[in-house]
Amino acid sequence: MATGKQHYSYNHIHNLIAHSVPEFAHAPDVLVAISGGGLIPARILRTLLKKRFGVTVPIRVVGLQLYDDDAEEISAEGVKRTQWPSAHEWGLSIKNALIVDEVDDTRTTLQYAYEHLRKDLAQDVTISVFVVHDKKKKKRGELPSDVRYIAAAHVDDLWIAYPWDAIDIDDHEKRAAEQGLA
Ligand code: 5GP
Repeated sequence: MATGKQHYSYNHIHNLIAHSVPEFAHAPDVLVAISGGGLIPARILRTLLKKRFGVTVPIRVVGLQLYDDDAEEISAEGVKRTQWPSAHEWGLSIKNALIVDEVDDTRTTLQYAYEHLRKDLAQDVTISVFVVHDKKKKKRGELPSDVRYIAAAHVDDLWIAYPWDAIDIDDHEKRAAEQGLA
């Protein structure tokens, strides 16, 4: 089994998301991007959903933080809410909301996002989840069994280096190519 960081290129991630689009039967009414990792995947998904369904889905941003960015470890405080729309800002016409994040690791963040969104939205709103990467591991968080969950890829439990976190993008893309992830 490979060890160390897995470097994924922008193209690789874009193509993973593109390959997931046929799994959507319809466009959601809103994309709920978990900041910061879900921002770029949500934006890519919006373009691809527009191509497929002909609608531009609005993106709302929620800020949740679990990991200390440098330590690559779970912070003692657990999930921190850094940004969250007030209940009335979600709008009344939403019937389907899609939570978007880059990676489902322990699932703690997704559980938190789902539960808090569930409280804010009307009970008849369907909430689904999309992630670029699902790490194959035992999860600490849980989602209700009827929640539609789409992962663009199911991957080994290794640290993933995303291109939007790179300081030197050329070096990042070079590593991605070396790892066969370009
Ligand atoms: P979870 O709550 O599922 O344990 O973690 C979710 C968050 O942890 C993600 O949104 C992401 O910010 C961070 N995270 C977990 N694993 C990785 C990883 O392999 N690479 C990066 N860059 N972030 C990760």
